[in-house]
Amino acid sequence: MPELPEVETVRRGLLPAMESHVIARADVNRPDLRWPFPDRMAERLTGQRVERLRRRSKYILADLSGGETLLMHLGMSGRILISGDPLGQFVRDHPAPEKHDHVVFHMKNGARIIFNDPRRFGAMDLFETATAEAHPLLSAIGPEPLGNAFHEDHLIAALRGRMTPIKSALLDQKIVAGLGNIYVCEALFRAGIHPVRKAGKIGRTRVASLVPVIRATLEDAIAAGGSSLRDYRRADGELGYFQHSFDVYGREGAPCRRDGCNGKVRRIVQAGRSSFYCTACQR
Ligand SMILES: [Zn+2]
Repeated sequence: MPELPEVETVRRGLLPAMESHVIARADVNRPDLRWPFPDRMAERLTGQRVERLRRRSKYILADLSGGETLLMHLGMSGRILISGDPLGQFVRDHPAPEKHDHVVFHMKNGARIIFNDPRRFGAMDLFETATAEAHPLLSAIGPEPLGNAFHEDHLIAALRGRMTPIKSALLDQKIVAGLGNIYVCEALFRAGIHPVRKAGKIGRTRVASLVPVIRATLEDAIAAGGSSLRDYRRADGELGYFQHSFDVYGREGAPCRRDGCNGKVRRIVQAGRSSFYCTACQR
């Protein structure tokens, strides 16, 4: 399941083919993904110029010249592939259509952008740009972790009095947008905070320390995507996914990577999801 850094690398991979470019036509090959597609989606996209391609949490938002915004969400298994773009580096024949190519954007610049999603937990929607903040998927989301609204005072206030584990609190999208299981585990490791510790019982200084740690954890992952993918895409044109090494995630039983720590990484299950942490240096 893509997390925020993967979605951000998908967005960056899409930029050269999509932002400031016109959608010549769109193929919408089925009526729905997770939810029905909006009415006349293909028609409403045709001829639209993508003025801006932005991200909110794990949603990619394309603001269109006609005043509507296209929302795209990758769900569990959604993938976006680009072929035949005009940049020159990856010019290749358009691949043969695949079974799960549900939506295809044919850009006027020659690029073909394919949304493929075997499990169909992904989503697309189209709505007036001016109402984007009020959209049901977007209205309740907290501040962006890489944005200015995510700061020490916000996090301290949001966690005050909360008796839920810090792991669950950081997964709460109202507190901070877009954080998922992997990067919460990694951020808590970097901050030296035990995932089971009650959010409201952690001292202000330690809570405050989480803000730069969360930012750095995400930024490092985005940078890893940028360095391991050329123009944020793989050679086959798929965007967003990259090999990434984690400090604790998926390393059950392995030695802690923190200098001078002799602890081992342990896995526990919290609210049905795995948490990985060091038994010695996370308190
Ligand atoms: Zn350790």
